[in-house]
Amino acid sequence: MIVGVLGAGQLARMIALAGYPLGLDFIFLDPSADACANSLGEHLHGDYNDPRLLAELAERADVVTYEFENVPSDVAEFLASHTQVHPSPKALAVAQDRLIEKAFFHSINIPTAAYAPINSFESLEQAMSFIGWPAILKSCTLGYDGKGQSLLKSIDDLKPAWEQLEGAPGVLEAFVPFTREISIIAARNVSGAIAFYPLSENSHRGGILRVAKSCNNDPMQAQSETYVSRLMEALDYVGVLALELFEVNGQLIANEFAPRVHNSGHWTIEGAETSQFENHLRAILDLPLGSTTAVSKTAMINFIGGLPITEELLTIPNSHLHLYNKAPRKGRKVAHATIRSENNEDLTALIKQLTTLADKVDDS
Ligand code: AMP
Repeated sequence: MIVGVLGAGQLARMIALAGYPLGLDFIFLDPSADACANSLGEHLHGDYNDPRLLAELAERADVVTYEFENVPSDVAEFLASHTQVHPSPKALAVAQDRLIEKAFFHSINIPTAAYAPINSFESLEQAMSFIGWPAILKSCTLGYDGKGQSLLKSIDDLKPAWEQLEGAPGVLEAFVPFTREISIIAARNVSGAIAFYPLSENSHRGGILRVAKSCNNDPMQAQSETYVSRLMEALDYVGVLALELFEVNGQLIANEFAPRVHNSGHWTIEGAETSQFENHLRAILDLPLGSTTAVSKTAMINFIGGLPITEELLTIPNSHLHLYNKAPRKGRKVAHATIRSENNEDLTALIKQLTTLADKVDDS
């Protein structure tokens, strides 16, 4: 069985690593000659919209999936008309545009921050009057890891924020004074079976995820499951999906969803009975989903821009290192490590050790 993957970055790499025990082969389409999943499968080297390569991928792959949501819609549609593509082009289209995504959340009664579409400086000024300060202006498309976002605290911030959009459509969001950022990762297979992972509690700095921690028996688990299953059912979604949520006063507010495996779910490789990567493959191949039970309390620490010293990191008990085989570059996710402990205090101390290593080489 051949799985085609659009993109050959670290997510594709971890999908392939999870697929080998299931006897799967992989073909990646990626424009980068040294994409880090290349060595794990066949690499079709070229643009995502290269008609010849897309035709080859559609012809040879039994099922196609992707590791990023900004797949051009005509590419997803073309592939879907020739082979199985999961998640569907519809799920991609909703996730690609923050305004469409927010309207979709509302249509299925999932709360979001108050928001308004922005397409001119005047519309920004007007929207501020009812959204209120502080607020965040985001580009509707192509924003990730806090890119294309401006925090608006006073009237002086309006002009630079508007200019940063460079004329692209934007969305103004009320700033949510959250107590926690969490995400729920879930998998749904072709037959409609759904499995939910225990929540991830996520810490960001500079808009980039730094630490994700598994939360067993979290009081927000049930509500998160309700929302993510509603979302998956409404999209007839197949694959793994991550729903990012803010917790505020015991309530959950949706921020966004990623129609793919997600950085906040990397802890599942060592921390859950079945990883998000394996369950993504099981879901798109319509296999029974694996247990999502956490085997321990687990945390994941990202390395951004710089690599840890392997020997130093691996002396930390119960640590696991995942190097993505990517050259360090400013702002680039190049590795992550996981750590497990049944004891909360131990886990906190171990996270501290790992974040110290990550901060030492941080270049974000
Ligand atoms: P995003 O790209 O939308 O995931 O935003 C990146 C990060 O910015 C989030 O993980 C939050 O830490 C922060 N953020 C985004 N939107 C809001 C909001 N409406 N209120 C407060 N913080 C936000």
